[in-house]
Amino acid sequence: MDFKTFNFHSSITAGIEAAGYQTPTPIQRKAIPAVLKGQDIMGLAQTGTGKTAAFVLPILERLIDGGRGFVRALIVAPTRELAEQINDNICTLGKKTGIRSISIYGGVNINAQIAKLARGVEVIVACPGRLLDHLKQQTVSLSRLEVLVLDEADHMFDMGFFPDIKRIMQQLPARRQNLLFSATMPREILHLAREVLHQPVTIQIGITAPADTVTHAIYPVAHHLKTRLLLELLKSTNTESVLIFTRTKHRAKRIGEQLSKKGFKAASIQGNLSQNRRREALNGFRDGTYQILVATDIAARGIDVSGVSHVINYDIPNTPDAYIHRIGRTGRAASTGEAFTLVTDDDITMVRGIERVLGARIKSKVIDDFDYDIPAPKNNQEFARPPRKPVPRYKSLHRQKKTGPKPSRSASSAETKQTRPARPQQRPAGSKSAKPRHGGGSFRPRRSR
Ligand code: AMP
Repeated sequence: MDFKTFNFHSSITAGIEAAGYQTPTPIQRKAIPAVLKGQDIMGLAQTGTGKTAAFVLPILERLIDGGRGFVRALIVAPTRELAEQINDNICTLGKKTGIRSISIYGGVNINAQIAKLARGVEVIVACPGRLLDHLKQQTVSLSRLEVLVLDEADHMFDMGFFPDIKRIMQQLPARRQNLLFSATMPREILHLAREVLHQPVTIQIGITAPADTVTHAIYPVAHHLKTRLLLELLKSTNTESVLIFTRTKHRAKRIGEQLSKKGFKAASIQGNLSQNRRREALNGFRDGTYQILVATDIAARGIDVSGVSHVINYDIPNTPDAYIHRIGRTGRAASTGEAFTLVTDDDITMVRGIERVLGARIKSKVIDDFDYDIPAPKNNQEFARPPRKPVPRYKSLHRQKKTGPKPSRSASSAETKQTRPARPQQRPAGSKSAKPRHGGGSFRPRRSR
């Protein structure tokens, strides 16, 4: 199947060519015909699947005919980066159509947005808060809207945007087409879908997609040695561009700075940055000025950076879905990528959860010559742990290193690897016996990379 099947207007075909798309992605194949027919859509797909063009192309096709100079399509997105990206997509794909779009978000001066709105646009891509400001100031009218897209609805819920979205929807005409996209389907999204969508077509693109082109590995390490290990990993790995994820804004900033000090071309993005600094970091990462970008999940949401060769989880994500989201940044299209996760003893349950989603065990690796026994600095707040739950049954990395292998095992880890009996095959995800086996081999250091 190619794009000709959709019979797009020649100005849109020109946009598709300009973007370099040759064949539609699975979500485009399924969503475009339904959107062209005017149906409501519930799209279950993560970033990296081509979902943006799946709604942008048929919306542009609809807007070619009909009036100009008033807002006919509204796309609501959780972050400024995602809003900008969608708007960039519209500009590329719709370049020859004459359709005008604007991205609207907070943290930047509102006057430029007001001026552009006053000149007339047909499409708005907006974050909820700033759009509400415009609606309150009556600098925009949505009374003639035809299509509403809610993108990354699960993230909008996580970020507390649902009340704002409901306020926005009160200002829209009741008769309109609604497209709802979400990577996951928690109860709240199901409720929203029931409220907003009218006889929707559900399109689901599996969340296991990245596994085929991405190689996964975990690196067991103590909390206080994570940064040292990260540096070693970066030194010893042939990387092109690396996206590093941390759990906190503070950590993203600190690691970005530490990497720069060590001579890496690194930048960080986190919620506290000004819009200009974020843009500078992102553009720098895209054009290769920075080889490494350190980000929190929120700051990186929806960021479309093709060609990321490595995703490194400095901190393991909070859910398997978040892991899939992060990993979705690498191994796109035909290229391959690697995903490394630094894990501590506290992370074993999450690792097992991720393995269940991936349907396979993740290889555990160690870095040769790395000193895993360096003690934690005293009085270091960052690594001061909350009181621990009962000690898990598996042995920690350190205890293993200190006590050494059991007498029955070979002394050298390389030999250990050879003499250890083969591990049973991964059981099907979801089967009862796929339960985490604490004491399983993944957290054992193995001297081979
Ligand atoms: P998205 O999931 O919308 O963030 O898209 C991920 C990436 O895939 C973006 O860089 C798009 O420009 C690109 N893309 C979207 N559709 C296609 C296509 N049919 N062929 C090649 N690349 C595409």
